[in-house]
Amino acid sequence: MTRILLIGGGHTHVVALRHLARRKPAGLDIHLVSPDLTTSYSGLLPGHIAGHWKRHTLEIPLPPLCRTAGATLHSTRATSLDPAAQTVDLADGDTLSFDYASLDIGAIAEVSGPESLRKLGVPVKPLGPFADRWSAFVSQVETGKLPPHAAVLGAGTAGVELALSMKYRLEKLGLSRPVHVSLIERGTDLLPGGNASMRAQLQRELKRAGVAMFTGETVADADEDSLRLASREDVPAGFVALATGARPQAWLTGTGLTLNDGFVSVGQALQSVSHPHVFACGDTAHLTFDPRPKAGVFAVRQGAVLAKQLVRLAANQPLAQYHPQKDYLKLVSLGRRRAIAEKWGVTLNMPGLWALKRHIDLKFMDNY
Ligand SMILES: Cc1cc2nc3c(=O)[nH]c(=O)nc-3n(C[C@H](O)[C@H](O)[C@H](O)COP(=O)(O)OP(=O)(O)OC[C@H]3O[C@@H](n4cnc5c(N)ncnc54)[C@H](O)[C@@H]3O)c2cc1C
Repeated sequence: MTRILLIGGGHTHVVALRHLARRKPAGLDIHLVSPDLTTSYSGLLPGHIAGHWKRHTLEIPLPPLCRTAGATLHSTRATSLDPAAQTVDLADGDTLSFDYASLDIGAIAEVSGPESLRKLGVPVKPLGPFADRWSAFVSQVETGKLPPHAAVLGAGTAGVELALSMKYRLEKLGLSRPVHVSLIERGTDLLPGGNASMRAQLQRELKRAGVAMFTGETVADADEDSLRLASREDVPAGFVALATGARPQAWLTGTGLTLNDGFVSVGQALQSVSHPHVFACGDTAHLTFDPRPKAGVFAVRQGAVLAKQLVRLAANQPLAQYHPQKDYLKLVSLGRRRAIAEKWGVTLNMPGLWALKRHIDLKFMDNY
C-alpha cells in the first residue's frame, strides 16, 4: 500500500478526494489532516457576507467526502513536515509517516500595523472563522448592542467584494442608525496592479453603494469602535476585516522544502522542486514554471491533476503535467445581486452576470 498524506482540506484536496471517490484506486492508503470538519468555498463567501447564502451553502463537509473516498480523516493540524524522514507531526501529538504527502494549507492573511489593529482586526483567511466573526457582529448590530459600522483593509478584489457585501448586509437590516462601511487601501488606488476598466467600474459601484474609500492610507491605531488613520482621520468601525494580502504559513520554513517567498516551489507535476515525494497545491504552491496569482480557480483545477498523479503513482505510471489556464473568468459580486465580469482584459457589467456566478458556484457545490 502507498500511504498518501493530504495535509489541509483546501479547495484542491476536496476536489482531488471527489475524483478519488469516483475511481477508488487500489493500492492507496489515503489520509487527510484537517483542523476543520468543513471547507468554506470562497466563491460563495462574499454572497454569504451579503446575506444571500446561508452558511451551510458554502460549506463542504469533509467526513462524508473522506468516507466515500476511503480516506482516514485526522481532525487536527500539521505542525511540521520532515521530507527526509517522510513524517508529519500533528498538533494532537501524533506523527504520521507517508510515502507521498501533499500540502494544501492555503495562505493566511497578512496581519501588520499597530498592535491594537492586530488585536481587533479579523483576518479574511481562514474563511470559516471570518464568516463566524461577521455573523456574530451582525447579530450584535441587529440587537442594537453595536452600531452598524465596519471597515475593510486592503482594496484588492476580495476587499472590494467584502466591503460591498458588508454594506449591503448592514443596509438590509433596516436600522434607524446610519450604516458606515469604509474601505482603506495603502496604495494610491484600488485593485493595485489590476485591470483599469474593472477598477473604474468598481469605483463607481463603491460610490453608488456609499462605501467610503480611503486610498494612500494606513491605520495608525484602533479601538473597539473606530480606526485612527495615519492622516489622523477617524473612521467608525466595530468590525475590521483584514484583506491585506496572502502570506505563507510560517512553519513551512522549517521543512527544508525549497520555497519562494515562503510558498512551496513546485514543478509542472505539482511536486516540490527539492523533494518530489511532496506535492503542494492551491495558494500554498509557487508554480515555478508559470507563476499565477493566488486564486481559488487554480486551486480547484489542480484537484483533478493531483488525483491523477496519485492514481498514476499507485500504478507506477509517469506523472501528468499541469497547464494552468492563462486567464480565467473573474466574476466579482457587488453586494447586491449584480456582478462584473472580466476576462482577457475585457470588462462586462450587465444584468445576468450575478445569475451566471450563482450558477457556476452552486453547480460546484452540487458535487458535495
Ligand atoms: C473574500 C474572498 C473571496 C474570494 N473569492 C474568490 C473567487 O471568487 N474566486 C477565486 O478564484 N478565488 C477567490 N478567493 C481566493 C481563494 O479564497 C483562495 O485562492 C483559495 O481559498 C485557495 O484555496 P486553497 O486550496 O489553496 O486553500 P484554502 O481553501 O484556503 O484551504 C486551506 C485549508 O487548509 C487548512 N489548514 C491550514 N493550516 C493547516 C495545517 N497546519 N494543517 C492542516 N490543515 C491546515 C485550513 O483549515 C483550510 O481548510 C477569495 C478570497 C477571499 C478572501
